[in-house]
Parts: sequence; structure tokens; C-alpha cells
Amino acid sequence: MPNDTTLLLDLDGVSVVRVELLADGGRRVHLVTADEAARACPACGVFATRVKGSATTRPRDLPYGENGLEFRWHKRRWFCREPTCPRRSFTEQVPQIPARARITTRLRTWAGRRVRDAGSTVIQAARDLRLSWPTVMDAFHAQAREVAEAPLPKVRVLGTDETRRGQPRWEQDPTTGKWHLVRDRWHTGFVDALGTGGLLGQIEGRTVADVLTWLATTPLTWRKSIKYVAIDMSTTYRAAVRIALPQATVVVDHSHAVQLANKMLSMVRRRTTTEIRDRRGRATDPEWRARRRLLRNREDLTDEQSTTMWNTLLGEGKIGQQLLPAWIAKENLRNLLALARTGADRHQVGHVRWKFLTWCADSDIPEVRQLAITVDRWWPEIEAFIDTGYSNAKSEGINRVIKLVARNAFGFRNADSQRLRTRCVTTRQARGHLRTAQL
Ligand SMILES: [Zn+2]
Repeated sequence: MPNDTTLLLDLDGVSVVRVELLADGGRRVHLVTADEAARACPACGVFATRVKGSATTRPRDLPYGENGLEFRWHKRRWFCREPTCPRRSFTEQVPQIPARARITTRLRTWAGRRVRDAGSTVIQAARDLRLSWPTVMDAFHAQAREVAEAPLPKVRVLGTDETRRGQPRWEQDPTTGKWHLVRDRWHTGFVDALGTGGLLGQIEGRTVADVLTWLATTPLTWRKSIKYVAIDMSTTYRAAVRIALPQATVVVDHSHAVQLANKMLSMVRRRTTTEIRDRRGRATDPEWRARRRLLRNREDLTDEQSTTMWNTLLGEGKIGQQLLPAWIAKENLRNLLALARTGADRHQVGHVRWKFLTWCADSDIPEVRQLAITVDRWWPEIEAFIDTGYSNAKSEGINRVIKLVARNAFGFRNADSQRLRTRCVTTRQARGHLRTAQL
């Protein structure tokens, strides 16, 4: 029995002398020191030879079985007889159970990793492991330091994206009755868009200066290893990358361009409704009823659906006449992107692109002309995406994690803790903590 338990305990430096079965079904395990080094004085390192007395401590370990184990460690106190040593006596300690520690090192590590890697909250881990909140928080910080202080992994494709932190706050002016945005906080996140490096960093704000501030904290050699930066259509981020990472190619996922075209179409619809009907859209307006179908891809509509929709909209007169060219602009853009993705030659792509741009430029709808200008300004970045397929989709995935962490963040009132926690959660895959996944 003692031998079996020794194996199961797997706790270095102590051995089991006796196991008591308790009335509640639990077990009390009596331990003695098995590590010779425990006799070394912690102050001078000289091995002690004279016993001063004994002491019993009750260190807690990992949860074990249904009823658990409790430890009684019977250890000795020693006299240090080294003449120059200031320490007169000491109690044995082993690395797994440091002096005065009430829990084993591995329980402390486990508690920290549950929060760091298994996505547990501090309160949850404290409750499950029957530890105090400050103990778990300390343990988490110790484990997190390992992650935070690790050098950044080499990154070929950097992903950048913004996330809103908290709810925007509005205030009403008591005299004019107008609403003002008084607080709107954003974070910029930097992720390893291709590898497993997860969230590399986060900074408050989303201006060029904010991005440059974060990049300035990274080593030059690391920045030079970045070949591509995947962003959404943010001119701020593009400007920052051009300044700080001049060697990198900016890529923009073509889906951002399609989203922009859909947004344009909805804007035209709302504006024409307001102008022509002199009110907001209603469920009975044909253009309001068609609002979702308008955003669908032409190839996903049957010919009949498409014909019916346009007959109805054009029957409305001016509203349909405004919507049709905007819709064609959107579909032309989609055709252009689809063609480019098939790997068609530059000449062919150039021709379809010219068709899209002239269609928009000839339009008298300002939103349509603006779409062409924006797409034209971003074409090199969109083309870079078509060539490489690199996108900031991972940033968006990590943003969901950030929001989840924020929502579960009882006790993470401060932004630094929250950032640290997100960094830990998103990089756990890279650390290969398969074992902690079972925690
Ligand atoms: Zn000593």
C-alpha cells in the first residue's frame, strides 16, 4: 500500500510512511522527508547533523479522488552549526513544498494554469481547488509572467485589427438636447495571422501613433521578419505600416471590399427612401422588403426571383432607378474579385476592373462613385490578398476571445490583466498544453 501511494503521489522529496483511512472515506497520508538536500541549511548550504526537534505541517496538494487526500508531513528541525552562519536553526523543505508553504508547488502551478490556459476564471479555479482568491490570482500572475516575458515568436504575417473595449458612453446636452459621444475606447490587437503565436500584443487606442507605440516596443530584428501585414480597410493602419514596416506588403481580404459594396447598397436604399418618401423605411415598402435579397449574390437568386425583384423595384420609379445601378456596381465588383481569384491574366483582370470603375464613375449616385474611389485606392492590397490568401481572419477570431475574456473577467477590472489573460488564452495552442486542456 505505501509503495502504491508513493507512485501515485509522484511528489518529489517526500515519501509515504503510513496511510490512514478516515471516517469520511478520505485518506490521511503521513509523509517524511526523502530528500537528503533538505538537510542543507537554506542560509549557508552546509548539511546539518544535529536534530533540534520535529514539526508537522499539513500541505495541500492536487485534488485526488472523491474524498481526497490530506497530508501530514513529519519533518525535522535542525541546528546549523556552521560558526559564521547567522541562521541558528531551520526546518526541512523540498522544492515541491517550500518552507511555510501551505500548498504544494504543483497545486500552485496547476491553479495558475487553469486560469492561464484552460480559460477558467479566478473565482472558478479558487472554488474548484478550494483555494483563496488571492492565492489563485498570485499563481496566475506567476504563470502568466512566463508567457508575457517570452520573446515574440517570429512572425511572417502580422494581423492587425481593432476591438471596442466596453460600451460607448453617450451624454445628452441639457440645453440643446443633442447627444454626444463622451467615451469610446478601442484596442488595437496584433496577432500572428499565419502561425500559432496568437495575440502578440494589444494597445489602447487605434491611431497611427498607437500602432507605432506598440511596434516601437518590439525588437528591430523581429519587425524585419514581418513580410505581410493583414488589415481591414483602415487607412490608419495602412499608414502606420508604411512608416514602421516599410518592407512589408499590406494585404486586405477581398471580403472587406464586398462588405463595403453591400454597405453602399444599403446606404443608397435608405437615402432614396428618405428623399422620395420623406420618411424612414417601412415593412410595406418594396425596397425595404427586398433589402436582404438585394445583398445576396446574383448567382444565389433564381432568374425568377431576380426578375420579380427588379420588376417590382423599377415599378416604383425613381427608387428602383437608383438601386439598379448601385446593385450592378456591387455585382461588377464581385465579378472582378471572382475573376482575379481564378488566376486570370493581368490583362483580363485589368479589363474587368476598368469596366467596374467606369460604370461607377459614370454613375450620378455619390455612394457608387465613392465605392469605386475606395476600391481603386485599395486595389494593390486587395490584389496582394488574391495572390497570397493571407487575411486577418485570425484577428477577428481573437477578438471574439477578447470579448469572451472581458465578459468572464470577474476580478479583471484592469486592462493590463485583461490583456495578459487574452494573450495567455490565445497562445496556449502554441505552448502545446494538451494536458491542461483536461483540467
Ligand atoms: Zn547555516
